[in-house]
Amino acid sequence: MNTQATEFDLIARYFNRPVPKDMLGGGDDCALFSVPAGKQVATSTDLLLEGRHFFSDVDARTLGHKALAVNLSDLAAMGASPIGCLLGLGLPSMDPGWIEKFAEGFYALAAEHHCHLIGGDTTRSLNGITLSVTVFGVVDPLHAMHRRAAQPGDEIWVSGYLGAADIACRMLAGEIPTQPELLKKIRHALELPVPRVALGQALARHAHAAIDVSDGLLQDLGHILKASGCGAQILESTLPIHRDLLGLPAHLLRRAALAGGDLYELCFTAPVSAHAVIDEIGRELSIPLTCIGTATLLNDLQVVDAAGCIVPDLPAGFDHFRM
Ligand code: ADP
Ligand code: MG
Repeated sequence: MNTQATEFDLIARYFNRPVPKDMLGGGDDCALFSVPAGKQVATSTDLLLEGRHFFSDVDARTLGHKALAVNLSDLAAMGASPIGCLLGLGLPSMDPGWIEKFAEGFYALAAEHHCHLIGGDTTRSLNGITLSVTVFGVVDPLHAMHRRAAQPGDEIWVSGYLGAADIACRMLAGEIPTQPELLKKIRHALELPVPRVALGQALARHAHAAIDVSDGLLQDLGHILKASGCGAQILESTLPIHRDLLGLPAHLLRRAALAGGDLYELCFTAPVSAHAVIDEIGRELSIPLTCIGTATLLNDLQVVDAAGCIVPDLPAGFDHFRM
């Protein structure tokens, strides 16, 4: 631990990279940026707490990536383009090596998405690491994908593959037996999620409602259905389960696919007439997009198994306050 470095040295050294000329970044009381005429600002914030959202021994670089990724994912789910972000850091000690790696991971993803770090706050914490990231993006208000916009008859889609982050998390937490070879292949899904920013922007003109799957497919889709006042039927046999998981017991796979969180794929609904365009978007971006069911008038979320039977006792998603 370097006891000589002050909070201000730390910020100046690790969190004050240049921003474009038309922005005012860190170093003043506020950051300043403008948005193009006719666009709306999309903003979102996410907290990450040591021991709750990440393991204490997680690699600092991957943590820097993930802290920003989960926020960019919210912009993606709205169809917004990132502009900038704020970083709140509560650190129990000042370990320059750790901070440097954290900043590297954070800035690498920020650069990829032109999401400039324009300010933040830094403080010593009494207990564990606390990270708070706020992102700003812009979106065309006519095309932002609201949760309330699903319509009965819409097809329901999900991007990417399901289950890997959940299984990796359960292995690392000791909840299920660790298979080292499998864990090696899938832990990046948990630690280095890829926010679907370009996909969200491409979908915005064609999809109705969207959400990023942070708390489990059924729970997050449930938010869309509730806000939109409709139901859904999901066909279990269509769920794009991560192929490395296919040897695992069926009950684990079902829970991982339907209720596994920390996924950061997009679940969205779109009219049947947009099916071919959506297939084309997936091909262009090289992102698998799978139609997994249909939104219904009936106000209920059903999963139908391969034999055509309704799956009873659906697994629940993640809830921080569940007792
Ligand atoms: P204030 O006293 O106004 O809260 P601070 O001393 O906390 O200001 O921060 C000084 C400057 O450094 C501000 O412009 C702030 O946005 C920036 N800053 C502080 N912490 C961070 C951080 N973790 N990442 C990026 N910028 C930061
Ligand atoms: Mg401050």
